[in-house]
Amino acid sequence: METATRMSATVNPFALAQAQFDKAVDKLGLEESARTILRQPMRELHVALPVRMDDGSHKVFRGFRVQHNDARGPCKGGIRFHPQETIDTVRALAMWMTWKCALMDLPLGGAKGGVICNPKEMSPRELQQLAREYIRQVYSMIGPEQDVPAPDVYTDPQIMAWMMDEYSRLTGRYSPGVITGKPLPLGGSAGREDATAEGTLYTIREACRHLGIPTRGATLAVQGYGNAGSYTAKLALELLGMRVVAVSDSRGAVCAPEGLDPAAAAEHKRETGSVVGTPATSPITDSDLLALEVDVLVPAALENVLTGDNARQVRAKIVAEAANGPTTLEADEILAQKGVFVIPDFLCNAGGVTVSYFECVQNRSWWYWDREEVYERLDRRMTQAFRQVLAVSLEAKTDMRTAAYMVAVQRVAEAVRLRGWLS
Ligand code: NAD
Repeated sequence: METATRMSATVNPFALAQAQFDKAVDKLGLEESARTILRQPMRELHVALPVRMDDGSHKVFRGFRVQHNDARGPCKGGIRFHPQETIDTVRALAMWMTWKCALMDLPLGGAKGGVICNPKEMSPRELQQLAREYIRQVYSMIGPEQDVPAPDVYTDPQIMAWMMDEYSRLTGRYSPGVITGKPLPLGGSAGREDATAEGTLYTIREACRHLGIPTRGATLAVQGYGNAGSYTAKLALELLGMRVVAVSDSRGAVCAPEGLDPAAAAEHKRETGSVVGTPATSPITDSDLLALEVDVLVPAALENVLTGDNARQVRAKIVAEAANGPTTLEADEILAQKGVFVIPDFLCNAGGVTVSYFECVQNRSWWYWDREEVYERLDRRMTQAFRQVLAVSLEAKTDMRTAAYMVAVQRVAEAVRLRGWLS
């Protein structure tokens, strides 16, 4: 069973999300009524999901769907299948989705879903049953005009296809727009698979430009080698000519100071289940990876990775948060004192939701764009968002995370006010 290494100073992600939000609200001087409404999710559903297992036994899995805020449009947010899922993680992730969509100026709100299960120990038939049961249970809450889920940790395009099919059966209409991250033949968008990493790369490029670091030959270490992490490593080499010196997954980490081949690491993981043992690399620990002297460190696994316990050891110039919530507040302060430039999660990994939004647009218009068009539009949005956040950060003399919150929270508060929710 794959479990995330949680550092000793594990912080409740929802408490972290609220504390980050409070910091930005204090800086903005937002009215108390707006703070109260935006500090909590608007809706949440807890479900029990019965599944007949292959051995004939029955198991009941717990699942959640949380909608944080839909003032700017239908909610958007992935579904995680993870053995350590908790309602507070889902609440935090839903809240971060609200800020992410607002920061990218997408006409969407924020939501998240989760199921407590270990997909690595389940057969495709069991997973399909679970995916379909989840949709039956949250059916009344989702839909193209209500809430549009997507893949997240340990869920993939195949699971999205089953979910879309179940929703279409329930409504009696082919409804590709109910979910994003679908396979291409079912209305998926070109470029969605590596969109998160593509967006992360655009923000790294902009951060390097701002700090005067040439990207060609710059060094990069990536923690987590799933969708976000493996594509970030691959594209760092292909798009920016960076040198990927270390990568890791839940089973361990490897390094190659002269640079490793991200495709070979991905291939080795496909064949053996882990990056450990990739040819021409040496094993290191996950803590070693986080403390490497590199230009860019990319946490791309789970929450609570950089904490008060280990942030002092970070020697990277830039921390690019491809994962959601990898840095605790205490770690944030330490990194700021050390002069580390942090690209906050809901800016750094916003490429995924942005291309999900493009997928919704394409599903509605029945007109599909090619990969180049998707990347071009994504680059424009990511670069614009990065520059807006940087400008606020310089103007307000604050860190990039607080600046990103200031931009996003202001936009959501404005929508809440305009809709009359505060009167
Ligand atoms: P994934 O399931 O594809 O990959 C997760 C990876 O993390 C796996 O390789 C796993 O082995 C590794 N991992 C788990 N625990 C680890 C540990 N302790 N140390 C090192 N590696 C560890 O998931 P993903 O979709 O790549 O998501 C990763 C992060 O990126 C999550 O925080 C997710 O919310 C965020 N994110 C993903 C997307 C997306 O489009 N996939 C979009 C936005 C944000």
